[in-house]
Amino acid sequence: MSGQALSAPPVAVAGPRVGVVKFASCDGCQLTLLDLEDELLEIAGRFDIVEFPEASSSRSEGPYDVLFVEGSISTPEQAEQIVELRRQAKLLVTIGACATAGGIQALRNWADHDAFRAAVYPHPEYVASLARATPVADHVAVDAALRGCPIGIEQLRELLTSLILGRRPEIRDEAVCAECKRRGAVCVMVATGTPCLGPVTQGGCGALCPRWGRGCYGCFGPREGANAASLGGTFLAGGRDRPDVGRLFAGFTAWAEPFRTIVSELGGAPGAGGADTGGADTGGAADRSAPSDTKSGGRDGQP
Ligand code: SF4
Ligand code: SF4
Ligand code: SF4
Repeated sequence: MSGQALSAPPVAVAGPRVGVVKFASCDGCQLTLLDLEDELLEIAGRFDIVEFPEASSSRSEGPYDVLFVEGSISTPEQAEQIVELRRQAKLLVTIGACATAGGIQALRNWADHDAFRAAVYPHPEYVASLARATPVADHVAVDAALRGCPIGIEQLRELLTSLILGRRPEIRDEAVCAECKRRGAVCVMVATGTPCLGPVTQGGCGALCPRWGRGCYGCFGPREGANAASLGGTFLAGGRDRPDVGRLFAGFTAWAEPFRTIVSELGGAPGAGGADTGGADTGGAADRSAPSDTKSGGRDGQP
């Protein structure tokens, strides 16, 4: 299995107490659990699901053998809650781009938080939110992570199976490109020049976007050691403007390194003022030079 995308120790307990909780998120990853229609009865028989507000009105504050956590930490209250939940959980599994990388809401991390809050809410003084939306792992130890927006159902099935059997989950550690090739999909970068983050993005979705003729926008997040700077340099060399390339990396996992550095160096997130970018170039004439640390020949292979 991948030690990067999923590094859960095996859990060999009968009928483990399971909780599913959410923070700042859209609930889509929780719905993936409910999408396991063929296995739902089996899951209900094998796990003691004691907390899952999306699916049941019965509640429990723990303890949990396994706790699935969706969503980023975006308010002071959530920052306290996740610490308490961690205390209650033997095994904590983050599910989805919001929980593992901060999610799309982390684009605000480049912006003026107070200005955003005032623009959205008529009474921002009543809204207690943190200046940054951050992944759960920034706050507490995480035992395993399922990536994606939403998570991949195959990886979820594998994780649940491994929990039942008390073995390590087997998740491939590979880029989207590998899945793309295995499925015989036409490379959109080669065929149509469509920018694609597949070479630097963790696989797990079955190359969903390329199979529909779209470039990957990185929702499974960067692979460990991904040479995103090199890919960004390739996009720049192809004639794209710096902010345009920065926006390619400014998606659901923009706050995860090394995507975060690329977004910062090339102008920050869309609509953001370029604050807190650590060397941001927030505009001006297009500069075709590559982001810093550009190297050729990243581990994923470049297009
Ligand atoms: S990762 Fe995507 S699908 Fe999952 S909760 Fe966040 S926004 Fe929703
Ligand atoms: S660059 Fe994109 S389209 Fe091309 S092989 Fe990789 S994932 Fe597939
Ligand atoms: S191809 Fe990329 S953006 Fe599309 S689902 Fe897969 S990881 Fe997400």
